[in-house]
Amino acid sequence: MTAETDTTTLRNFIDGAWIDSRDDTLLQVVNPATEETIARFPRGSGADVDHAVAAARRAQPEWHALSVDDRVALIVGWADRIEARTDELAELECREMGKPVDVGRGFIAAGVAGLRASAQEAANYAFESSSDDPDGGRTQILRHPVGVAAVITPWNFPVTMVLAALGPLLASGNTVVIKPSERSPLSTVKLFELLDLPAGVLNLVLGDVHAGQPLAAHNDIDLVHFTGSVAAGRKVGAASGLALHRSTLELGGKDPVIVDDDVDIPSVAEAVAFGSFVNTGQICTSMERIYVHEAIAAEFVDELVKAAEAYAFGDGLEPGVMMGPLVDDRQRDIVRSQVADAVSQGATVRIGGEIPDHTGYFYPATVITGVEDSMSLMTEETFGPVAPIAVVSTFAEGVERASRSAFGLAATVYSHNADHLEQAKHIPAGVIWINQWQGDGGVRTYEPARASGMGATGTTASFDAATRPSTIRIAPESS
Ligand code: NAD
Repeated sequence: MTAETDTTTLRNFIDGAWIDSRDDTLLQVVNPATEETIARFPRGSGADVDHAVAAARRAQPEWHALSVDDRVALIVGWADRIEARTDELAELECREMGKPVDVGRGFIAAGVAGLRASAQEAANYAFESSSDDPDGGRTQILRHPVGVAAVITPWNFPVTMVLAALGPLLASGNTVVIKPSERSPLSTVKLFELLDLPAGVLNLVLGDVHAGQPLAAHNDIDLVHFTGSVAAGRKVGAASGLALHRSTLELGGKDPVIVDDDVDIPSVAEAVAFGSFVNTGQICTSMERIYVHEAIAAEFVDELVKAAEAYAFGDGLEPGVMMGPLVDDRQRDIVRSQVADAVSQGATVRIGGEIPDHTGYFYPATVITGVEDSMSLMTEETFGPVAPIAVVSTFAEGVERASRSAFGLAATVYSHNADHLEQAKHIPAGVIWINQWQGDGGVRTYEPARASGMGATGTTASFDAATRPSTIRIAPESS
């Protein structure tokens, strides 16, 4: 493969070759820490999508004809090459979307581990099963690959999101056209430079909505795996409905945290700071609504402010930087306006909230108290390093308010009271973390609740989503 990322203009990878887009319009990748343009790439077109889908369609029967072991071996080989280039990928992610290199390394390692885990899962998944029926006949269930899959990803975990979607799809025998985010194409291009799969099995179309929309609506794809905002997810879901293909939608969140009165305050404040500020708060499961029991609220806020103070922000290429910039000025405007709206309605900024007067889309770790559930800071996804704190008089009130949201991605609870933990299990969310945040090594099966998405994923559910079952019923006399 060529060193595509050494050139300033990125290209598509279709049918095993790097090729130019059929549309001349170029977009820019801007380093959010320096505001400099670091690469250009095509905005994409329906013609690029047609080309890539046709290549994936041609390649699919042969890819499926390989044994599961052969497919898994090829995927694991790719995982090995990606792992060997972790530093380079983390640096590319830092330049294209701001994540500090040290933070990025950990998430890329998790993505590679996930790719390996899904390859392992494929080796154990029941692509064929059968049972003897009471009448002497037999019933066989075959799980076929769905066919050609479209994968559309966001920018906040460029490498990890791509790898998480691809493992089960490829291992099941599907071929794929992937369209990464227009804000972070560099690291995905690097992943393709490390690829060694048969031509057409995995194809890359770069671009923004000009590529995403025709891909999601394409009549010759069978499935779309979309990760992104609720607004775009609704459009993708509608397009899938019209085309009658399957869609898995992993969308935004407004995740609550409940902090009970019996916790170790400094360590939970430290954990909440991490859950609110890591990746500059740009995680779908970031902690965005924090309900704290009144008995410990004052001390908890003091500890959280202390933790926020220590959250050094800057260019993530520099050592010691814990938080990079926001991805762009548009994202910073969303954060700024939600904070301004909360303050105008009586909330108090305890630390942060001021945009620094220098280059880069930076925003400091911010703690806000006195928020109401009706404020935009508590109802809309923020995607920034802001921890809004509401005080509750009972744990039950925390559960009730945490459950009142248009979103339902994940929730986190800190408590040592067994009854309280039982109550918290019923918060409508795809994942509930108890006395930890994220620390499950990615082993989770869930379907987001409410507007946070649809379609179950994780472990065997991802293989169910990547395959189509058919039943073969064999009459008694012929078995
Ligand atoms: P986005 O919706 O703007 O874009 C996501 C992708 O969709 C991009 O590749 C974009 O080009 C493409 N796209 C946009 N409009 C489209 C359309 N009409 N048809 C087809 N494709 C289209 O989201 P973003 O700003 O890149 O990412 C941030 C969002 O993603 C946040 O809301 C975050 O919570 C969410 N997210 C969710 C998860 C999850 O697992 N639930 C994980 C990461 C991010």
